[in-house]
Amino acid sequence: MLNLSLYNNEILEHYKSNSQIARRLTEDWCSSEMYCPTCLNENLSNHPNNQKVSDFFCEHCKNEFQLKSSSNKFGTRVTDGAYGTMMEFINSNRTPNFLLLHYSKDEWIVKNMFLIPKFFISSSAIEVRNALSATARRAGWVGCNILLTKIPENGKIPIIKNERIIDKAEVHKNWKKMNFLNSKKPDLRGWTLDVLKSIEDLRKDEFTLKDAYGNKKYLMKLHPDNHHIEAKIRQQLQILRDNNIIQFTSKGKYKML
Ligand SMILES: [Zn+2]
Repeated sequence: MLNLSLYNNEILEHYKSNSQIARRLTEDWCSSEMYCPTCLNENLSNHPNNQKVSDFFCEHCKNEFQLKSSSNKFGTRVTDGAYGTMMEFINSNRTPNFLLLHYSKDEWIVKNMFLIPKFFISSSAIEVRNALSATARRAGWVGCNILLTKIPENGKIPIIKNERIIDKAEVHKNWKKMNFLNSKKPDLRGWTLDVLKSIEDLRKDEFTLKDAYGNKKYLMKLHPDNHHIEAKIRQQLQILRDNNIIQFTSKGKYKML
């Protein structure tokens, strides 16, 4: 059972700034408490500090994890590193998994945590930020945000929800359910995610092909070079059906599973 307390007197006394304290406490918590959500190995291991592509990895399944912590509930976007690096990672299948941890700084406990599997990070979910100004230390550097609003709900797997610990087996099941995306090429996977997100946004348990086509504008904006959007939507609905995310009930009618 995970212990939700982040409290560590040594760290609290050693550091002055709240952001440093929070960083150390949440990182320590992850290495002492967190298991690998993708293979259920008991521990996650720290990367040596100078090798900061991701924060943790699993020695068993070799998955990489990046920890993002916040004292506010996660909203629409999360700040990440360099835009160019992120796009390169997406296109070469090297994106880490993300662990988003929301803590209380009054009580120093973990309130919420969810996992975004690496295969849910597509170019549609990456927002480029303005380059740093000429007077900044890293003038011209371009960062990025991860847009949580562009990631389907299936890609936000709860691990801790309002201080309730979700059963490990359920976390793992949710990961496995979507793992088919992992074997797809980044470009095709991006399409699957965008179509899944667009049908989720219909907020209907059952929908029609016409409903799905109704999202054409949204998809055209994300993929301006594609001129066969309807065919692409049909292709993606088939992929979602083949992987038990939706069901075809009758001609032109679908059901979310
Ligand atoms: Zn693992």
